[in-house]
Amino acid sequence: MKINIALFAAASTLFLNPAVTVALPTTAKATSVAELRDKALQSDDIAYDIVEGLTTEIGQRQAGTEAEARARIWSVNKLRALGFENVRVEEYQMPTWVRGAETAVITAPFPQKLAVAALGNSGSTGEVGLDAEIVYFPTIDDLRAAPDGSLKGKIAFVSHNMKATQDGSSYGTFGPARFVGPNVAAKKGAAAIVIRSVGTDYHRNPHTGNTNFEPGVTPIPAGALSIPDAENLQRMIARGKPVRMKLKLTPHNIGMQTSGNVLAEVKGSDPSLPIILIACHLDSWDLGTGAIDDAVGCGIIGAAAKHLQSMGQPKRTVRLLWAGAEEVGIWGGRDYGEKHANEPHALAMESDFGAGKVWAVDFRLPESANAVRAQIISALAPLGVVPRRELAGGGADIGAIIATQKLGIVDLQQDGTKYFDLHHTPDDTLDKIDKAELRQNVAAWVATLAYLANYEGELKPEPAQ
Ligand SMILES: [Zn+2]
Repeated sequence: MKINIALFAAASTLFLNPAVTVALPTTAKATSVAELRDKALQSDDIAYDIVEGLTTEIGQRQAGTEAEARARIWSVNKLRALGFENVRVEEYQMPTWVRGAETAVITAPFPQKLAVAALGNSGSTGEVGLDAEIVYFPTIDDLRAAPDGSLKGKIAFVSHNMKATQDGSSYGTFGPARFVGPNVAAKKGAAAIVIRSVGTDYHRNPHTGNTNFEPGVTPIPAGALSIPDAENLQRMIARGKPVRMKLKLTPHNIGMQTSGNVLAEVKGSDPSLPIILIACHLDSWDLGTGAIDDAVGCGIIGAAAKHLQSMGQPKRTVRLLWAGAEEVGIWGGRDYGEKHANEPHALAMESDFGAGKVWAVDFRLPESANAVRAQIISALAPLGVVPRRELAGGGADIGAIIATQKLGIVDLQQDGTKYFDLHHTPDDTLDKIDKAELRQNVAAWVATLAYLANYEGELKPEPAQ
């Protein structure tokens, strides 16, 4: 998921005249960036092959589990088969939570079953479950305003009004129902919490995802209801009689487990130039097969890095980071940031917002790089990609290394209108991927990388004033 945090206060200078342009390698088989881009647009199969392989041969890849470990082995084999260099795994340890049984039944006044899934880090109701009265909060702010202790022995129910947006920004607006709702409810004494899934579809699929409890706050059982079920519950509450739910969630913690990042490289011809990092995440939630989140991101960057080489060896090394354990707290991205803190990087990019078409490009580059920025804008224009006046913010897995080294960033913004219909649900499966849109992503990435990886000038933005 893209983030837009202003790390630096540099003003946008998108439209200054280019002074110095990128000289591309002449050893190329593909003779121009346009040719490379158009070939990817018309015929790339590598990205789809990666998503298809990961979702078929591995499936769900929850962080810290043996499925994620199998995904690392699969990825090493795939990246080596594609001819990348320095393919390796960097392991780390992380606390691991796993799902148990999950049921939600309205016991009064209108007995019926609802579709529920536990949120990551949810506490357990125990095998017996919990039968308690529902207290309804239309928004997270209503929950925040509830008096301390007022939820004792109750199940809080938090709704929201999330709508689909092209840029995905509604996730930031409405996501707190999940991100912090359970912690707020626990501090007010609630026995448990259910939320309206943070999503935009009307399928009977709960959307899971991580929640976090502050140190010292005992995790309470926390579940997401599918959106149709959340609306049904709202209608029951509107009838005016007390509504009771029997909730059973039995997740548990299995302690510290091994997770890891998979790294691979396209070696640059000039080792004195700081590297370009491109990232996706290999882990997924456990309900679907993690096709759009985020096998497809690994497909896009893998395909783009492979096609880049048909122009000959780039000047800069391009490193792929297929990060582990993003969903459960960005463990892989942080581990990469720590282990590589002293290795010079120039710029980072990430693909982690599904398989929708790229529609916009944001930059965070120094003014001295205006020429290469203009070249990228020109190369992306035939793909229907527009430059915005926003500063690029990067993404979760590159956040740590960007913060440490104040890197340049280019964000290829994908259309996220449909993303939150599928996000963290059982519906996140291969069939949702449109091959033509996927190829457009690969084309945008390879065109962008072709310029950045062959640019010898400074790519880090000026320090904030
Ligand atoms: Zn993701």
